[in-house]
Amino acid sequence: MNPIPYGKQYIDKQDEDAVLEALRSDFMTQGPQIAKFERDFAEKVGAKYAVAVSNGTAALHLSLMALGIKPGDKVITTPITFVASANCILYCGAEVVFCDIDAETFTLDLEKLKDILEASPKGTYKAVIPVDFAGYPCDTEMLSHLSAEFGFKIVEDACHAPGGNFLDSKGNTQMCGNGIYSDLTVFSFHPVKHIACGEGGMITTNNLSLYQKLLDLRTHGITKDPTILEENHGGWYYEMRDLGYNYRLTDMQAALGITQLAKLDSSVAKRNIIAQKYDAEFAEANIVTPIRSSIIMHAFHLYVIQIKDRLGLYNHLRKNNIFTQVHYIPVHLQPYYKEKGWKKGDFPIAESYYEKCLSLPMYPTLTEKEQYFVINEILSFYNK
Ligand SMILES: *Cc1c(COP(=O)(O)O)cnc(C)c1O
Repeated sequence: MNPIPYGKQYIDKQDEDAVLEALRSDFMTQGPQIAKFERDFAEKVGAKYAVAVSNGTAALHLSLMALGIKPGDKVITTPITFVASANCILYCGAEVVFCDIDAETFTLDLEKLKDILEASPKGTYKAVIPVDFAGYPCDTEMLSHLSAEFGFKIVEDACHAPGGNFLDSKGNTQMCGNGIYSDLTVFSFHPVKHIACGEGGMITTNNLSLYQKLLDLRTHGITKDPTILEENHGGWYYEMRDLGYNYRLTDMQAALGITQLAKLDSSVAKRNIIAQKYDAEFAEANIVTPIRSSIIMHAFHLYVIQIKDRLGLYNHLRKNNIFTQVHYIPVHLQPYYKEKGWKKGDFPIAESYYEKCLSLPMYPTLTEKEQYFVINEILSFYNK
């Protein structure tokens, strides 16, 4: 058996051809492939606007910048996420406030969030960054009610959830990133995520002024838009109006993104089939499987089980060439954050989840044979 990782990109001939074609064209960055990738992506998730950037972390950073998050502001996120969801707050000089997770969905616990919001005057928190953990869309509808009541913006971290969706209270399907309930939604195209660009990210929104800010901020805060220039000295003229960054994606990566995006539906479908097999095989064993709901399309970036003797199982699988992973070590327990004052015991649900969680192999090209090998190794470890 070849090594079986927990996640893996899928690149086919169509992807290779697209990249070569872009490479042979006149544009290597910010050319026609970027514009097409943004249009295709916006259409796929049902948003008005999409802005391609160099990675998911840049997408988070620019989103907070576009909202004007600055030193002194407070922004809330979850401790069970990749460090980038919290780091972006610090990039803006703002203060990170963690809110514990729900024990079943592993997304922000909205009851606890409400407690935090109610304990301070309205307007204290400028933004909330919920994470669609493992591909499970968080309840952005409920969050949007809180946002209206308490006056914060929503930056949805959907790096795990392109293609994920849920039925809202009116029975409408809401795709992650469609901008109905979230002000901004960010995605990552790191190879381990659904859409692989090598590196890459996207921000979607329905808000025109945020969209225009994002476009400027991703290239140094520079604009050439003749309708807003203060002066105009000729065709070469541009103005830097904000301190932005170089957070651009290349045309070669965008070309890959376009063909990868075309495979998103089949990838999510395949991931759901794999999840169903795991669910069925683990139902009898004493293994906690991810929560399922008829109103949720889980994008299954990760398939996380909760188990006893996680280290023992991890090492046993590793010996058998199966490379599982843990998502995530709670962010507040990272040394950098501990130095800022957080400690063990601050977020008990997140911490107890961390003690038990393990991400199993989950990617569209995982074969049935490989999956049953994984399942059998897990079951035999607990039945020995
Ligand atoms: C991957 C990921 C990011 C960061 O994306 P990069 O493209 O690696 O910068 C942010 N948040 C979450 C939840 C992620 O999984």
